[in-house]
This record gives sequence, C-alpha cells and structure tokens, in this order.
Amino acid sequence: MADDTLLDRALTRLEEAASHLQIDQDVIEKLKYPRETTKTRLLIRMDDGSRKSFLAWRCRYDDTRGPTKGGIRFHPDSTIEEVETLAFWMTCKCAVMNLPYGGGKGAVRVDPHGLSKTELERLSRAYVQAFANTIGPDRDIPAPDVYTNAMIMGWMADEYNQITGQVSPAVITGKPIALGGSLGRNDATARGGFYLVRHLAAELGLDNDHTVAIQGFGNAGQFYARLTAEDGNTVVAVSDSAGAIYRAGGLDVEKLIAGKNAGRHVADMAAEQGADIIAAEDLIGIEADLLVPAALEDMITKENAGSIKAKVVLELANGPITPDADKILNDAGVIVLPDILANAGGVTVSYFEWVQNRQGYYWDLEEIHAKLLKIVEREGKAIWDIAKERNVSVRSAAYIHALGRLSTAIEAHGTQP
Ligand code: GLU
Repeated sequence: MADDTLLDRALTRLEEAASHLQIDQDVIEKLKYPRETTKTRLLIRMDDGSRKSFLAWRCRYDDTRGPTKGGIRFHPDSTIEEVETLAFWMTCKCAVMNLPYGGGKGAVRVDPHGLSKTELERLSRAYVQAFANTIGPDRDIPAPDVYTNAMIMGWMADEYNQITGQVSPAVITGKPIALGGSLGRNDATARGGFYLVRHLAAELGLDNDHTVAIQGFGNAGQFYARLTAEDGNTVVAVSDSAGAIYRAGGLDVEKLIAGKNAGRHVADMAAEQGADIIAAEDLIGIEADLLVPAALEDMITKENAGSIKAKVVLELANGPITPDADKILNDAGVIVLPDILANAGGVTVSYFEWVQNRQGYYWDLEEIHAKLLKIVEREGKAIWDIAKERNVSVRSAAYIHALGRLSTAIEAHGTQP
C-alpha cells in the first residue's frame, strides 16, 4: 500500500479475504471507502463561564446490510482516520454476527476525565444536536465506546427525543435500563468473548483453569476478568492507563474492580493484592495462557509481538494487533481470536436492545444470555471451520465470513449505475 494509514492497514485484511473468494471487484470498491463522514466542532459552555470547542465526527461507513451501527468514543487522541477505521470494523463485525446493520462510528477529541459532570452532559447533548440528522433508529444508531457509558447514552437519547418531539429509544443503544436499555448490555462485550473462548476451549488448547493477562481494565477488561475468574480461571496480570500489576498465583478480581470503581489505578492496589508492579508494556509478554488486549488500537506491534508467551490472544479491543504483528503471531503458532468476532458481543446485545425498543417488549436476562450464546457459538464455530478448511488464520476466516455476507447484500442491491 502506498500510504500506510490505519484504514489502509485494516483494508489489507479485507483484500486478503477477497483473495480467497470469487469476489467481484465492485464489492471491494464499495467497501474501500467510507460512505460519508461528517466533521464538526462542538462549542460548549464550561463551568467557569468560558467557551470551548471540541472536534467531533460521525462516520457512516457502509449501510448495505442495514442502518449504520457503532459507538461514540471520547478520547484526546481521536482522529478522523481512527473513526473511519473503527466504522469499517463495525461494518465487518455486524456482518460477522449476521446483525441487520451496516457500520458506523463517532468520536469527540476530548479527555473526558478533565470535564465536570455538567460539562460532559453539555458536550454529549451538543454531539446529538450536531448530528441529529445523521443518526436515527433506521439510519444510524450510536452506542458507548471508549470513555463513554450508559449515563452519556441516556443524555444523548434524551436530547434526540427533545429535538424530534418523540420518544425514540431505538436511536441509541447502551442506555440506562430506566430509559429502555437492555439487561445484559453492560457486560456484553466481555461475555461474548468469554462465551467464544469457552466454546472453542478444546480447539484452543485451553484447560478450564487457564491463566489470563488483561491489558486495559475498563468495561471490557473488568467484566472479562470477573467472568473468567468465576469460571475457575486465574487472572495473573492486569493493566490500565497508569500501570500494570502481576501475581503468578492470581489477583483478587473483585477487589480490583471495587478499587477501580472508587477511582484508583491498578498499580495503587499492588501491595494489598500481594502483586508486583510491572511496566505496562511488559504485560504483553507475561507468562499466561490467554492474553486479552482490552484497551486501544495498535498495542501489539512488530516490536513487541515476539515477546508474547500466550497460546491464545482474545481481541476485546478493536484493532489491538497490527498486520505486521499478526504475521509474527501466526508464524509462532499463537491463535488470535480477532476483534470483529471476539468483541462482537457488545453490538449483538445492542441489537437486542434495539429490537426490544422497537417492539416495546422486554426480555429477561436469561433470554438475553441464551440469545447471545447462540449467536456467538454459531458464528464462532462457522469461522473456526472456515479457518480449518482453508488453512487460514481465524482473522482471515472472520473476514471471509463477513465478506461473503457483504458481497451477497451488495449484489442484491443491484449493480447500476
Ligand atoms: N463500541 C462497541 C464496539 O466497538 C459497541 C458498538 C455498539 O454497540 O453499537 O463494538
């Protein structure tokens, strides 16, 4: 590729998948570029009376299979290129899980930790004001992503309802339960990954008391730690933006989660956990059967991939492994369960939320879990079988699976003009 942007690198995976299929070049041409990306500046009043503006984007990458779907990220390093790449991954992810959605994504370039609660609410409402004509229950449906949560989705849904003069809970997912949120959405990303690992455990060579290292201790990382620990596995290392800790005999996950909820960093809890503080970048090379990147893109690169000792990597984050690093892991026999399958539990339960909102009839938690389990096992197994049959990586298999569905839909729409 001429210029090596995040999106170019992401597209190499699609092109690789296309080489395994009889895909019309028209299909790739359609999927190579985002359909539309809107950029704006959100101008909000700060608590001290000053005004401040923040860059914001919403990308609707592809809507061939349905309304575009994807989260909104609040992060100081967000860029248009990142938003478009994340929206491309959402397109593939929804196809992998066979959800009736295309892919989208949004972001605000902001460090939300530097805002008060009222400033955060004004920023969230300003986002919806700016994109009120872009989003919609049949057009583009946002959800939480990095540093956004149910509270923010609640403000956004409320703002949309005020603007339109209607109550449209299905415009956004990941809402508080009181506003039509779904049971089971909070831990859905982690739960989807957990169900996947459990379903494929024998093939992956993971015993039912394996050790786990988790990079990133936000929503996905915390819930994964809890689910896997409850299942009898041992979490030996975790990291967050301020550091990492390691204890060969295992960490007390519930105490770590309680501490994080109280605003502490994992490294602050090293002593009470009887754990060693390690450099955050060393977590990747820690002795553990399963490595779970649950933070941001490009964390595993050609520089550090060689240090990985885990047998399996579960990508709960979007895009944590670069294509260069992928090759190193493949050659070393490390199995990577790719993001567009591994973390798709979140958008799957978002879909359940949207369905419940539209029918006005709500399911109990057991039903949500059963439905999620069924989809994860079905699509996980289908992808695993493609990988075995074609002798390709699980990532390539996931893209082959997604591309098959996308190309069928693109062709069904008609090919003219
Ligand atoms: N932000 C999540 C993701 O990257 C969830 C998206 C959604 O629920 O729409 O998959």
